[in-house]
Amino acid sequence: MILYALNCACGHSFEEWFDNMADYDTKKQAGIPCPSCGGTQVAKAIMAPRVAMAQAAAPAPACAPGGCGGSGMCPMMAQMG
Ligand SMILES: [Zn+2]
Repeated sequence: MILYALNCACGHSFEEWFDNMADYDTKKQAGIPCPSCGGTQVAKAIMAPRVAMAQAAAPAPACAPGGCGGSGMCPMMAQMG
């Protein structure tokens, strides 16, 4: 089973499970309906692994100019020397 992220022509994004790539091609030719609008003009979206997205959404806390809470133990300042 493969989980593909799909985008419809309206810009809705959704996910659909397929047995394999051939199954995707078959179903796409038959028309994969968008669950939001029912449109079948859908295209496979660039797969963005959820783990990577989660990591990008939670960056390391920004270091304040005065150091992390003024403790003098700011890891970012330590990296810069
Ligand atoms: Zn749609």
